[in-house]
Amino acid sequence: MIAEILSIGTELLMGQITDTNAQYIATRLAQYGINHYYNSTVGDNWDRLCGTIKTALERSDVVLMTGGLGPTDDDISKEAAAAVMDCELYLDERAKTEMEQRFSRMNRKMTENNLKQAYLPVGCVPLYNKNGTAPGCIINKNDKIIVLMPGPPKEMRPMLDEQVLPYIGQWCDTTLFSKELKIFNYGESALASTLKDMLDGQTNPTIAPYAQMGEVLLRVTASCRTAEEGERIVRPVIDEIKRRVGDYVYSEDGETLQAVCARLIKQSGLKLAAAESCTGGMLSSSLIDIAGSSEWFLEGAVTYSNEAKNKRLGVDMAVIEKVGAVSREVAALMAEGIAKTAGSDIGLSTTGIAGPGGGTAEKPVGLVYVGLYINGKTQVKELRLSGDRYRIRYNATQHALDMLRKALMTDDK
Ligand code: ATP
Repeated sequence: MIAEILSIGTELLMGQITDTNAQYIATRLAQYGINHYYNSTVGDNWDRLCGTIKTALERSDVVLMTGGLGPTDDDISKEAAAAVMDCELYLDERAKTEMEQRFSRMNRKMTENNLKQAYLPVGCVPLYNKNGTAPGCIINKNDKIIVLMPGPPKEMRPMLDEQVLPYIGQWCDTTLFSKELKIFNYGESALASTLKDMLDGQTNPTIAPYAQMGEVLLRVTASCRTAEEGERIVRPVIDEIKRRVGDYVYSEDGETLQAVCARLIKQSGLKLAAAESCTGGMLSSSLIDIAGSSEWFLEGAVTYSNEAKNKRLGVDMAVIEKVGAVSREVAALMAEGIAKTAGSDIGLSTTGIAGPGGGTAEKPVGLVYVGLYINGKTQVKELRLSGDRYRIRYNATQHALDMLRKALMTDDK
């Protein structure tokens, strides 16, 4: 199998951006042992783009294209590829729905232009994009394959690794074996510096970091013949990453933070209840998302008002009046109060200012306290979070889960 990379964008031709996509794809092709003889770059011009695609198809079996899937009129990659492959376009309902949901989550209006991105070539394999609006696709026709992927590396890389390579891998002898390390609250740039020599010198396995909301996913991938061989190749690298990053690594199998917490609580035999203010049920909901949570999750109370904190949890009104509902003291009393009243071993609480209003110089938007009562001891963590209301609430939830995870992992439970 011969592959060719085709990067699209006038910005690339003008030298305004560096073609890191081609470099990334080339590394992956080498890992797979796929021959790759040509890389081309072409601007957003219909005739030149169609001509370059035709030339690429004459000398290669697979053409991997990135860029030009955006909503504007100069984004023509998909239309050009479909024209060369002689395919009509159809409106893909799932792509349309995902796009509508994305726009509504971001509180933005979706325009007619955006809908253009949900049109895909008839007969293609859609590549849905969980990191951006533009879906990609694979057109496999007359023994030739064109892969269309979005330009932004944060969208292109996971699409290539998770969807495109497994598809192309059907025709390769080598297979890829991956482990997904999940790291919470370490910071993408701090991680890049801690692992600099490993990231710079990587060959087999490769280490690919992807930043996600508040966490980083590190995919360690070995090129191998069997899973056993893959495990042997990735193991020393994973052990070294864990040695350097410590208990910020919460999973090496791509598990979510709440799934890890659920496993640890179940093992401990303890029962949990949550009292939430700024997270408004998100914390309880994320734990209840895990099947089997009824064995250990007793109750979640959304105690948003001061009165609710007092009536439901027994938080002393005098304390709230003295130090405010968003305070270390109240977070501790909430965690203790829910554990006592629900009859659980663990009480987890959140109280904070999610914004956009309500902040003061002393207590700004993003100030959150997480309280954890476990086996007779209470701890409180102060967080200074940034972002919009959803992001602050989401990150407060994740921090609460991480605090719980670390407490469950310590010996003096
Ligand atoms: P969008 O849906 O965001 O418009 P797109 O698929 O149309 O994406 P482009 O508009 O071509 O992609 O590029 C969007 C951005 O992605 C560029 O401004 C650049 O930051 C990045 N990008 C595009 N191509 C590459 C590349 N080959 N290497 C690195 N970055 C790239």
